[in-house]
Amino acid sequence: MIGEKKLCAQCNKEAEVVDVKPSNGNEIQVLSCGHLMETPQSTYDAIADLPSAYETISAASKQINSLNDILLLVDKSEMSPEEKSKTKEILSLVDKEKDSKTLSQIKSSLSPLKIWLTVAAPYVNLLLNLIIRQ
Ligand SMILES: [Zn+2]
Repeated sequence: MIGEKKLCAQCNKEAEVVDVKPSNGNEIQVLSCGHLMETPQSTYDAIADLPSAYETISAASKQINSLNDILLLVDKSEMSPEEKSKTKEILSLVDKEKDSKTLSQIKSSLSPLKIWLTVAAPYVNLLLNLIIRQ
């Protein structure tokens, strides 16, 4: 990004990015000291996407008051139909057992769905936060 401070590897001093030029999928940053710095575009994009994804979840979690709100969020997500349905299955199971079972008992009833827990984890966390708040 223009205006960003970078440590120039060639003069080993902090310099400001004065220009950014795309090159073969990479990004060349022109530093105020006159040196150039190459950044792979894909890495750059992945890092730039992180805060916004986090903000979406955290902003959304403020408006979540029930399991239904989380299920709606699952529907709106980019997951495949199978991932959505397994995530909902996990959420319903946790919700159903939360009053009568301990967390470790809930975990053992989730073991047949274990391979789906990675995709479902952010939503399960939202549900757990909800349970803790109540
Ligand atoms: Zn330099």
